[in-house]
Amino acid sequence: MTHAIRFHETGGPEVLRWEEVGVGDTAPNEARVKHHAVGLNYIDIYHRTGAYPAPLPSGIGLEAAGVVEAVGGAVTELKVGDRVAYAGGPLGAYAEVRNMPADRLVKLPDAIDFKTGAAMMLQGMTAQYLLRRTCKVESGDTILIHAAAGGVGLIVCQWAHALGATVIGTVSTDEKAALAKAHGCDHTIIYTRENFTERVREITGGKGVRVVYDSIGKDTFMGSLECLQPLGLMALFGAASGPVPPFDLGLLAKMGSLFITRPTLFVYTAQRSDLVAISNDLFDVVSSGKVKIEVNQTYALKDAAQAQIDLVARKTTGSTVLLP
Ligand code: NDP
Repeated sequence: MTHAIRFHETGGPEVLRWEEVGVGDTAPNEARVKHHAVGLNYIDIYHRTGAYPAPLPSGIGLEAAGVVEAVGGAVTELKVGDRVAYAGGPLGAYAEVRNMPADRLVKLPDAIDFKTGAAMMLQGMTAQYLLRRTCKVESGDTILIHAAAGGVGLIVCQWAHALGATVIGTVSTDEKAALAKAHGCDHTIIYTRENFTERVREITGGKGVRVVYDSIGKDTFMGSLECLQPLGLMALFGAASGPVPPFDLGLLAKMGSLFITRPTLFVYTAQRSDLVAISNDLFDVVSSGKVKIEVNQTYALKDAAQAQIDLVARKTTGSTVLLP
C-alpha cells in the first residue's frame, strides 16, 4: 500500500484527504513512477472546487517527477530506473507512487533535479506554447503578462526577455514587482492600486501591446482587451478570479479587429511529437540558464491542502512543489 491525496466531494481545501491506496499492476502501456516531487498548479484548485468537474472520488494533481519502478509489456521507450517527469492527465499526481500512460512521460535530463522537474513541466510547457505557438513572440514585440510573479508568470517573463521582447507584468504587491523585475520583467504594474490599462498605454506611448497573456479572467479581461494594439491577440489561459462572462464579439471589431483564443496545454501537447518538442525546448532554455525555475515554496505532500490555501491566498511566488 502507498499514500495519495484524494477527494470524495468538491469544496474547500478540507475535502482533500490523505489516504492509503493500492497502485495495482501496470497495464501494458503504463509505467509505474515513484514520485520524488509533485507540482502544485492553479488548475488543481479548479478540480478541487468543481470549476473543472472530475468524476468522484478522484485523485488530484497533474504534474510530478520521479523514477520508473516498473513498465508494462508494450512499453519500449522506458526502462526501470529512468528519471522521468510529466504534466497532464489522468488526475492523480498527488501520490507517492502511481501508474501513468508511458507515452505521457518524458525523460528528465540528468542536469535537472526532481524538484525543478516537478516545478517546471506544467508551467514551463505552458510558457513555451504561449510564447512560441499561440503567438510567436519576436524581438521588438511588447507583451503583457498578468500575475507576473507567479509560477507561469516568472517563466514567461524570463523566456520573453530572452526572446528580445519588452515585458510588461502586473502583480499585486511591491515585493512581487521586485521579484518579477529580477526575472526579466521590464515594467511592472501593481494592479491592486494602479489602473493597468492606463499604465500600459503610457508605457507603450499609446500604441498598446501585441499580445496579452491573461490568466486572471473575470477581473482583468475587459481591461486586457483595451491594452491591445490593432490586430492584437488576447490569450485567455486561466480564470484565477473567476470565468469571463458571456461577451459580445462585435466589440472585437470596435477595439481594433482583435483576436481571442482560450488555449490549454493539454491540447497543445495531445500529440506525443508535440509533447516531446515542447518539453525539449523547455529543457533547453532551463539547461542554458535563460530561464531559472524558482521553487519558492515546498510542502510535505500530505500538507497539500495548506499549499492550496496559500496559492489561492496569493501568498506564493514562482513555483511550489509537494514532497512525498
Ligand atoms: P500562480 O502562481 O500564477 O498563482 C496565481 C496568481 O494569480 C496569484 O499569485 C495572484 O498573483 C494572481 N491572482 C489574481 N487574481 C487572483 C484571485 N482572485 N485569486 C487568486 N489569485 C489571483 O499560478 P500558476 O502559475 O499555477 O497558474 C497561473 C494561471 O495560469 C492560472 O490561472 C492557471 O489556471 C493558468 N494556467 C493555464 C494553463 C493553460 O494551458 N490554459 C496551464 C497552466 C496554468 P498576484 O498576487 O500578483 O495578483
